[in-house]
Amino acid sequence: MTDPTRTPEPNPIDPAVEAALTASRSARAEALLEFARIPSISTQPEHAPDMVVAAEWVAAKLRGVGATEVEVVRTQLHPIVYGKIHEAPGAPTVLVYCHYDVQPVDPVELWETAPFVPFLRDGRFVGRGVADDKGQLVMHLSALEALRAAGKAPAVNLTFVFEGEEEYGSESLFAWIPQNRDRLAADLAVISDTTYFEGNVPAITIALRGIMYAQIDVELSSVDLHSGQYGGSVENPANALARIITALKGPDGRVRIPGFYDDVVPLTDADRAQIASLPFDEEAFRAETQVPALVGEAGWTILESRTIRPTLDVNGIWGGFQGDGAKTIIPAHAHAKVSTRLVANQDPQKIFEALRAYVEQVAPPGVKVTTTYIHGGEASLTPTDHPATQAAARAIRAVEGVDPVYIREGGSIPVTAAFDHVLGLPVVLAGFPQPNCNAHAPNEWLDERNFEAGTRIMVRLWDELATVPRGSEG
Ligand SMILES: [Zn+2]
Repeated sequence: MTDPTRTPEPNPIDPAVEAALTASRSARAEALLEFARIPSISTQPEHAPDMVVAAEWVAAKLRGVGATEVEVVRTQLHPIVYGKIHEAPGAPTVLVYCHYDVQPVDPVELWETAPFVPFLRDGRFVGRGVADDKGQLVMHLSALEALRAAGKAPAVNLTFVFEGEEEYGSESLFAWIPQNRDRLAADLAVISDTTYFEGNVPAITIALRGIMYAQIDVELSSVDLHSGQYGGSVENPANALARIITALKGPDGRVRIPGFYDDVVPLTDADRAQIASLPFDEEAFRAETQVPALVGEAGWTILESRTIRPTLDVNGIWGGFQGDGAKTIIPAHAHAKVSTRLVANQDPQKIFEALRAYVEQVAPPGVKVTTTYIHGGEASLTPTDHPATQAAARAIRAVEGVDPVYIREGGSIPVTAAFDHVLGLPVVLAGFPQPNCNAHAPNEWLDERNFEAGTRIMVRLWDELATVPRGSEG
């Protein structure tokens, strides 16, 4: 907070609330560490009990800050934590979203310590979930605790939705949202699950990519076949899968599925100029990701390729013999997980159908090929000039002493599209970790500085949003 180029307001938040935050600094850090010790991995069934423990932890904290109607909502998979603090009659109502589930931890040998033994050292939290997204959830709770300690209530009405399936496609939440429109009635939504920009530059994310995730299974027989006896006379599922995958995307970075780009909203020259103006250092990005070279889509910059262009990747591939030495087989089957990152207005179902049809078309004869939809979410876009976006910009400027940049993020938060498209709410994406925080990777980390700043920005944000006209168009 001592960067000479930044000039925060002398008192960006109420002095009594600031005093409470100063006093609670170590307790707030400990709360994050405690939360991050719960191995709430949503995609691994053996962690289902931990999901409940994490949900109850969040619910207890919400009760502790005086939230009403706090409920750990049982779903077909992991619970949704709901609650409200509606103590500002006439003020806007804000739907607040974070997620308490985390990504799996493999490869676990690359972690400095056990992923669920988080620590705070040299101003940095390290552990699974400290950035994505438990740290941000704790920032929200901390801001409320400080307000309460100062005898205050948030200046807007807050409705909390903290989910446990963000890393697993949010299916339960998608089913729950349309059934609970009344409980979710709001003027806008604030989602804290994004990051600052490279170089720790405060940012508001105005666009997110969507996703369509599928699995391709190639089957030959119920058992592996002897490659001497059968080789040359049957199709090999691993070879067949390799041919299918090769057909999906060209060396120019273009996805070859017919119709894939049909619904992509074209970028204006102004959009491209705004993206080009961002302080993005390609070489620093390359060095930090430790890759030999960056490859983008032909005709687009690296930053555009990784944020506003749709793409396709194999996320995993397996089949056949994987042990030491040699085993002369033709594998019985081979498999791949494939995902596409989508942009406005690509429809995940439509993209899946196009993928399935294309896989069938390019699959060689002699094997049985199945393409299965795993999950999907639409892309979203919120204008920079929306009053809620501008309120968030003021809160950031007050605390950080610098204007935020507006970014388009390559990742997906499917709930954003649900709030936007199903509930019709403008969505403000305010998130605080650094973008290279190793989310989803070993040694995930969060600057304590950003943890502190983000907490204060939340306090200020409720004041700023109180001035936003209700029912502003998204
Ligand atoms: Zn997240």
